Amino acid sequence: MGSPQILNGVNQEVTQLLRELIQIDTTNPPGNETKAATFIAQYLANEGFKTEIIESAPGRGSVITRLKGTGEKPSLLLLSHLDVVVANPKEWTVEPFAGVVKDGYVYGRGAYDMKCMTAIEIMVIKLLKKNAVKLKGDVVLAATADEEQGGEEGAGYLLQHHKEKVWCPYVINEGGGLAFPSKNGYVFPVQTAEKGILWLRIKAKGTPGHGSTPNMADNAVMRMNKVIDKLGNYKPPTIYVPTLKEFLAEMGKQDPELQQTFSRLLARPEQSEKILDELARKDKALAEEIRPRTKMTIAPTMIHGGVKENIIPSECEAVFDCRILPGQSVTETVDLIKGLLKDVGLDKLSFEFIQAHGGSESASDTPLYITITSVLKEFEPGCGVTPTLTTGGTDSRFFRENGSICYGFQPMIPDEPNDELEKRMHGIDERITIENLVYGTSILYETVKRFMS
Ligand SMILES: [Zn+2]
Repeated sequence: MGSPQILNGVNQEVTQLLRELIQIDTTNPPGNETKAATFIAQYLANEGFKTEIIESAPGRGSVITRLKGTGEKPSLLLLSHLDVVVANPKEWTVEPFAGVVKDGYVYGRGAYDMKCMTAIEIMVIKLLKKNAVKLKGDVVLAATADEEQGGEEGAGYLLQHHKEKVWCPYVINEGGGLAFPSKNGYVFPVQTAEKGILWLRIKAKGTPGHGSTPNMADNAVMRMNKVIDKLGNYKPPTIYVPTLKEFLAEMGKQDPELQQTFSRLLARPEQSEKILDELARKDKALAEEIRPRTKMTIAPTMIHGGVKENIIPSECEAVFDCRILPGQSVTETVDLIKGLLKDVGLDKLSFEFIQAHGGSESASDTPLYITITSVLKEFEPGCGVTPTLTTGGTDSRFFRENGSICYGFQPMIPDEPNDELEKRMHGIDERITIENLVYGTSILYETVKRFMS
């Protein structure tokens, strides 16, 4: 086995593939992912792949292909989503759906989240076939609809209605892989866990009256004020999921200056708030990255009430964005919230789910994780690799709920400070370096090849 290489030869093809994917507008809503799925199906058909497009509704297509192995090893799914969030051309310096190449970057909505990885995964499966790699397990590719709106019409639909076509014991998806610098060199996070979502609309009821005689009415805005106060100021207990413990231990190893802080955090969960406050005085960004990973969070995000200047409102509604840890259930969280609001008067409050699902987590002591680590260390000698928990969700949850081991892993080297890079996701002038397209293809190809042969 030779040492792994950067596949500079794929440069033009992966760039062109990404440009063409960006040029197909898959803004969700409405999505229109079938157009992109059809493009991929044709592309893969030209390479001798059999593909299938499955629509959950007209226009909402996902594309699947499979490269057969001998069956000696479990199969691996290369997952990505085809839809993107809206882009306002007025805010951009280039046309968001033109696939502009400039200064070593590919620009466009989806360049970073996540048509780049769709292009990389297509390159990987194509190279496996072209190089006649002897696969011991099937490699499946699925590029799906609807992730940006929750994924029920994409990954969720496929697992519910066509599980046999798409489910694999192992999955590689978005959510991790962007290296961040540390004292000892790069650290690559592999997303092994993500928080769950509870978007809750709470309505407070009262009785209307004239604004000039407030005591004769029951003001729903005042009631909602108490709800916001209770939920917004709630201090949830600290819970370290396995991924977070491993993350803190690994990060401590990478940065001797932080080692003491992270060891204290690990040893004293009950003092985590105090330790994070101390850390925030030195490195606010880092502290506030870690804090929401140690507990559930509740953030009031929308409020609406009242109809006229002089009418005491009888209704007020607010929306709460609540993020729960893997292992915390939606039901127990709703019970907890209702418990917090007992004194406000539950008979005057109603609760509606906008979106609700739990978090998910995969173990890191698996053959795939070990392969990812060893490939990374060959490409980047001395680098760190750590499991990571993300506060946002991906389609991995559908697969984890069905028993798959999923890792968010698109290896990338930062071309700007990491907080700037994170703004590109769903942001203005979204872009990726061509270097990272080639880098990602090279590492993912080596990982899949090694894991499967
Ligand atoms: Zn995404």
